[in-house]
Order: sequence, then C-alpha cells, then structure tokens
Amino acid sequence: MKTTSTETASKMPPRLAVIIPCYNEEDILAETHDVVVKCLRQLINAGKTDRESFICFVDDGSSDKTWDLIEGFTGDGMVRGIKLSSNFGHQNALLAGLMTMKDSADCFVTMDADLQDDASAIDLMIDKYLEGNMIVYGVRDNRSSDSILKRSSAGIFYRLMNRIGVRTVYNHADFRLADRRVIDCLAGYREVNLFLRGIFPLMGFRSDQVSYIRKSRTGGRSKYPLQKMAGFAWQGITSFNTSLLRIVTATGILMFILALVTAIWALITYFSGKSIQGWTSILLIISAFSGINMISLGLIGEYVGKIYLEVKQRPRYHIEKMKL
Ligand code: UDP
Ligand code: MG
Repeated sequence: MKTTSTETASKMPPRLAVIIPCYNEEDILAETHDVVVKCLRQLINAGKTDRESFICFVDDGSSDKTWDLIEGFTGDGMVRGIKLSSNFGHQNALLAGLMTMKDSADCFVTMDADLQDDASAIDLMIDKYLEGNMIVYGVRDNRSSDSILKRSSAGIFYRLMNRIGVRTVYNHADFRLADRRVIDCLAGYREVNLFLRGIFPLMGFRSDQVSYIRKSRTGGRSKYPLQKMAGFAWQGITSFNTSLLRIVTATGILMFILALVTAIWALITYFSGKSIQGWTSILLIISAFSGINMISLGLIGEYVGKIYLEVKQRPRYHIEKMKL
C-alpha cells in the first residue's frame, strides 16, 4: 500500500535509534548488546530499517564497569555511548539519550538494559510505525515475572492515575517507539519532575500498542525497590494535575458542614442545660480536624515543593563524554 510521507515514516526505510539507559548493569550489558545488535541486523537485512540504524547506551553515572563495556562496544559502528556526569535517574537518562540523538534518527525505541523488555518486539513496533503510527507503546502481556507486591501496587497505581484523570497506557513502562517529530515535541516539555509515560499519551499523535511478555531479570539487580517505586508513582500522580489539592478543598467543605452541625448540636445541648457532657466528642472533633489540617498542609507542601524545583529550571542532566 502506498502512503504519503506525512502519514507514515519521514524516511524509508527509517533510521532507527535504540536508546538504552544503564545504571550499574555490568552483569548483563554484554548480553543485552548482543541481543539488540542481532535484532537490529535482522531489521536492516529485512529492509525495514536503514543501514545506519544504531544503539545508544546512556550510562547514568554507574559506579561499576558499565562505561568501559559501552566504550568497548562502540568500535563496530552500530553502537554509540553517552556518559552522564552523575546518576540522574532513569527518566533523565532516557531524556538525555533522546535529546542528544534527536537529529540523528527518524524513529526511536527506548528500552531497559536488563532485557526484561523483549527486543524482538521492536520488529512489531516498526511494522506499526510503517503503518503510520507515530507512537507505539510496548505493553506487557502479564506480570508473572514481577513480585506479588510489585504487581498489586502497579495495579493500584494505574487505576488511581486514571481515576484522577492522568492518561496512562495500562501496563506500559518505558518500552516504546516514537517518531522524530514526537521527540521534537518532547523537547518542549521542560519539567524537572519528569514522568515520560504520562507525557507521551498527553502529546496525542496516532498511536498503537504491541504486547510482549516481560521476562525476569537474568543479571544485576532492580534499581527500583518498593520505596523508589512508590516515589516514582507519587511523581506521576502529582506531576500531572492538581486533583489531589481539589480533594483537600472538598474535604474542607465537608468538614465545615460537619462543624456547623456540631455547633447546632452544641447549642441545643447548652440550652437544654446538659453542657458539661460532650467532652469526649469535642476531643474527637479536635483531633479529627487537626489530622485533616496536617494532611492538607502536607499535600499543599508537596505541590509547593514541586513548584520550587520547577522554577529553578535546573538542567536535568549533564553529559560528561560521548562515543559516537
Ligand atoms: N536505570 C537508570 N538510572 C537509574 C535507575 C535505573 O538508568 O537511576 C536504568 C536501569 O539500568 C535499567 C532501567 O533504568 O536499564 C530500568 O531499571 P530497573 O530494571 O532497575 O527497573 P525495574 O525493571 O526493576 O522497574
Ligand atoms: Mg528492569
């Protein structure tokens, strides 16, 4: 089927860049390299991607031999490397890779370094891309490779996000393909509190999904223990809208109505001459109110803290060196 250049890839076959953030991944990186190179070669040989397609490893301030390994890979012409000056976090490492390579490819796939994202799904992503989709989301088929805790907390997270009006793709992490025009738009999102899986659906564009089976990690350790994951989920919730602050206002109104009812009741008690009673209820009310006040203040403080970080407009990463 013949399509016009505006509905499909900007160049045929498109030049693909696979961006892989790595943080202390020395145990698995060599295997990841082999698997992704093989996959890229197959795509090139099948004429689906350009000969100059490449992989870009972003070393997110690793303290092990990750960068040495990346430097070793760069000899074959298919691998590029970026070394960040410190550990800026998964989201910023992804951004560093995308922004640095923005003008060097037609489409971009981001995937984790631990092979949990199935590299063979890139082939399907390219198919969807060639059909004219600007974003293709990798969606995991099941979560059996995750711990029960991770699985159930992720379920609650996605439901909560949708409930408060943040559009996210269910069971999609950061394994996705995006056209260069989408990445150009991404450059306009200047926020420090970065949550890419919320930004991509927000940007719109024609998109589709590819499902894949997420495997367990075979080497190295997860850099997202429960505490860090909870922080990331909170980032997602508070970085996209202020609906939580609205809950505070709603609770305030409800409490005000309750206080009115309590006042009427107190007056009635007073005029009927039984005013000594009621000590317990007053105590209960005071503690309930102070609790709600504290929560509300904390919540507002969260957003104020976010504003503080955003207004400073600090750079989100620094590149120490590159191997192209
Ligand atoms: N990662 C990173 N910087 C960090 C933490 C993680 O670049 O500060 C990378 C990590 O090397 C991996 C990806 O982000 O490629 C996802 O991390 P991980 O596999 O630890 O997360 P999980 O799959 O357990 O959620
Ligand atoms: Mg992982």
